[in-house]
Amino acid sequence: MKINVKKDTHNGEQPIRVLKHNLTTRLVERNEEYIKSLQSDFKLNKNIKYHIANLPLTENQTPYIDENGTINIHETYLSYVWCVCYFFFVLHEEGVAIPETIKRNNPVHKLQNPELITEAKKLFDYAKSLIVSFDIWDKENLPNPEFYDEKSVEGWYILKTNDLYVEVLNFILYHESAHAEFEHIKKLKSEKIRVEERKLLEIEADTRAIELILSNGRNKIVSELGITIGLASILFFKNNFSGGSKHPDIDKRLENAIKIFNTNDDSPTWTILVLFIKVWDEQFTLGLINQAYYNTYKDLYYDLISQIK
Ligand SMILES: [Zn+2]
Repeated sequence: MKINVKKDTHNGEQPIRVLKHNLTTRLVERNEEYIKSLQSDFKLNKNIKYHIANLPLTENQTPYIDENGTINIHETYLSYVWCVCYFFFVLHEEGVAIPETIKRNNPVHKLQNPELITEAKKLFDYAKSLIVSFDIWDKENLPNPEFYDEKSVEGWYILKTNDLYVEVLNFILYHESAHAEFEHIKKLKSEKIRVEERKLLEIEADTRAIELILSNGRNKIVSELGITIGLASILFFKNNFSGGSKHPDIDKRLENAIKIFNTNDDSPTWTILVLFIKVWDEQFTLGLINQAYYNTYKDLYYDLISQIK
């Protein structure tokens, strides 16, 4: 039976409101000393500004930190990230992990259910629509964190997605706090900084955030997936890797993260990366070609990437 998990303390307009407190709790728990030292140095504001507005992402609804050290996040962005997490997690499990386990005659934790991918795809289409126009999240029919049946298979995916989503947002928030730590905003205001230098500040913030996430416990695979999803979710905004005048190209940010992960060749991080590129290829008909055989998802990923460049 579907149950509404919203409490009075969950303020906001979109179903993602029920996870609002999870974001900051894990952020502080992860490295209380770090967060507190930034706050006592007046580099980081104690409160995160949580914008409640039913607006599309292109109307300045993406996260940033201002010159007073206040991190700004927006409900539509949070909804977008959750939907992207849900879709790719379901796609990875139902489309790759479970069928491959069955093929190898190994035991599976659940039966394959392709219907779940169809539903997740609808949710992903909703997420992409949020980039340019706002619409209400259909809680009755689409997976969401507020109104669901915990005991259903979908409920299982929702709970797992919640955890992954918090990990993605921890990365995003640590990226912003790294800007505060290194006083990047002040630098941008006071000095004439060339485009290339500005992009390096972004890489510096990514690097710091990744180090903070990975060095503070939890499951390394989930953390890597969270960081990967955080970076790759930007892909669906346009048909190329370009980060514009403020951000490095997405493939460069991904490569920086992968280097720090120092991940195994058979890690699910590669599978998720391949899925992102393939779904992106489908969205913009980039015409990427798949060879008949690859040794690993890592090889496949780099082959696809080389075709885009
Ligand atoms: Zn940044």
